[in-house]
Amino acid sequence: MTDRYAVFGNPIAHSMSPQIHAYFASLCGDDLEYGTVLVPAGEFAKQCDSFFSHGGRGCNVTVPCKLDACAYADELTPYAQSAGAVNTLKLQNDGKILGDNTDGRGFIADLKRLKLYPEGKRILLIGAGGAAKGIMHPLLEEKPAAVTVVNRNMDKAVELAKAYGKEVTVCRYDELKAEYDLVINATSSSLNGALPPLEDEVLRAASAAYDLMYKKDGVTTFTQHAIELGVTDCHDGFGMLIMQAALSYELWRGVRPDAGKAIAHFR
Ligand code: NDP
Repeated sequence: MTDRYAVFGNPIAHSMSPQIHAYFASLCGDDLEYGTVLVPAGEFAKQCDSFFSHGGRGCNVTVPCKLDACAYADELTPYAQSAGAVNTLKLQNDGKILGDNTDGRGFIADLKRLKLYPEGKRILLIGAGGAAKGIMHPLLEEKPAAVTVVNRNMDKAVELAKAYGKEVTVCRYDELKAEYDLVINATSSSLNGALPPLEDEVLRAASAAYDLMYKKDGVTTFTQHAIELGVTDCHDGFGMLIMQAALSYELWRGVRPDAGKAIAHFR
């Protein structure tokens, strides 16, 4: 039987994952099926049970099911544990379901592809939602000089930083100084064409800006603003999307597809 994979979420029709994984399969010479599963509210476990009992080997999980996937997994990787969310499930040989979170490692892999190395850098992380939580652990593994989290809702920022002790500091938007090398937008502001309430001088002083959100033309509201302020190295999250997918593929099939080729193909 052909190995089955899928992405679970709601909505799901817009997802690029089927195209990305079909392309990976063609690069790796694999014969597999990758579909979409629209998950009605409250039915994640039911849909997963049915998928895994009908040839499903693994799946990606997107909004709003990442917490449900975390609860569904029998075992979690340290990345899924620290993120408190799962974007990849794998049926293991012992029948147990492993939950991983490849978003953060995908983000780091993309930074490195772009020759943006976090080691020794002062980093400002804007946002304290699911994506910010997912990237914090892999980001700290890169040994940055400092990481500051800023978020409108301070309680969420404090909660996120708490797990990491002194390594991470929390600031209010109006307290930030112009002292960061890399500014990462992990808010969903660009989705609505908005900007986080960051003073221009904080962004202007940075040498690089990265927006986790991605757009077809590669320019988001946030990166457009950074470009206008003179920041030379600006990137959207499309590379991260491909990289996290490549890491899921590797978890399932033991081979990492050429993500660089896929980025060039889809861009
Ligand atoms: P959540 O809904 O969990 O969190 C949203 C965050 O955005 C919160 O910190 C919220 O702040 C903040 N926010 C929203 N609007 C604004 C605004 N106008 N000004 C300031 N802050 C704002 O979303 P996620 O963390 O899951 O996703 C964040 C982004 O990351 C999305 O754009 C998503 O598309 C992207 N993403 C990209 C991936 C990729 O592969 N490239 C993978 C995963 C996510 P507050 O708490 O104060 O409301």
